[in-house]
Amino acid sequence: MAEAGAGVLVEETLQVFRDNYPGCEPTVGVAAPGRVNLIGEHTDYNEGFVLPVALPMVTVVVGCQSSNGIISLLTTAKEADEPRRLEFPVLTESNPLSPGLPCWANYVKGVIQHYRAGPLPGFKAVIASNVPLGGGLSSSASLEVAMYTFLQQICPDNGDLVEKALACQKAEHTFASMPCGIMDQFISVMGKKDHALLIDCRSLEVTPVPLTDPSLVVLITNSNVRHTLTGSEYSTRRKQCKEAADALKKETLRDVSIADLTAAESHLDAEVYCRARHVISEIKRTTDAAKALTSRDYWEFGRLMVQSHNSLRDDYEVSCPELDELVAAAMDGEGVYGSRMTGGGFGGCTVTLVDAAAVENTIQRIKDNYSGTATFYITKPSRGAHVLKL
Ligand code: ADP
Ligand code: MG
Repeated sequence: MAEAGAGVLVEETLQVFRDNYPGCEPTVGVAAPGRVNLIGEHTDYNEGFVLPVALPMVTVVVGCQSSNGIISLLTTAKEADEPRRLEFPVLTESNPLSPGLPCWANYVKGVIQHYRAGPLPGFKAVIASNVPLGGGLSSSASLEVAMYTFLQQICPDNGDLVEKALACQKAEHTFASMPCGIMDQFISVMGKKDHALLIDCRSLEVTPVPLTDPSLVVLITNSNVRHTLTGSEYSTRRKQCKEAADALKKETLRDVSIADLTAAESHLDAEVYCRARHVISEIKRTTDAAKALTSRDYWEFGRLMVQSHNSLRDDYEVSCPELDELVAAAMDGEGVYGSRMTGGGFGGCTVTLVDAAAVENTIQRIKDNYSGTATFYITKPSRGAHVLKL
């Protein structure tokens, strides 16, 4: 079982800071979680619904303000590209930041560039995370939101949480070239202990759904594979969704019913039709699933999860053999309500809803049947970004 406690992570990060910036003492510490989406995949950028949970796994930023106008950053992530330590002057209006190398710093620079108050002072910071990088649990959003939360401590903004999530999304769009929806940044900002959040990605209204039943376990299984293409496939899907909505003369697929789509089938490219069918059916499954969870109907919830997986595999074509194997292995036993790929796809993780009494057997069965090496996380819905007491 993976996952170091956040407390250990914070201690280690403080030590790295002291070792690398001798003579300075960190005065600010913040944490922002990764996420797992229970259902509602590829719906956020279609103004649909999503149902994510904030994880106990977090990105931590510790540091202090400096008076020399220089931003010094260091990440402890071994997977991040070199150099993992860099320095640059604070941005000014005439000298904005721009994306470049190393890639990992773009997420941070994007947040600094789009931060909603200023002028920012210089600062020194160390970044560390126990969210797996590139594992589909949104280490990127947790990094952006942690960085934003750090900046709030040294140069307060107006505290608006929605604007915060939107600024972090903008950072990912403009500096990491990833045209992501709003889910990841939103849940990392708003996450609520013991709850999943039903997020309406059109109105940005949030409805917390309690998830405290001790007999219910959310099991995340990391396939530990990541196929390339993720970025380009993602933008292709976005374009196809727009093409379908345009053909139906609607703003987004949120406004299209399955009946509308079926009636227009002959006017649509076959692939675009299937993409739209996934999105429209997934939006409905997500609101249905939130109702099932509220009434503790876990079998119904699980049935919707499996339907979601099949739709992502067959209509949206963002699954891969490894994720299909993990779902099949999870489902092939007692006490498992449902299982599906989670996140953008092409690797990353599955999420499985399982009875507490069946967790051990389920993990063993997945290990026995998966052709790769999986990592498992039993997770509890946790709070969103927060300031740490140092
Ligand atoms: P995911 O968000 O699913 O983990 P992404 O590909 O969207 O996957 O984001 C992963 C990228 O985010 C990494 O390759 C790295 O560039 C950046 N990143 C995330 N966490 C960190 C970190 N702690 N330190 C440095 N870079 C990070
Ligand atoms: Mg990401």
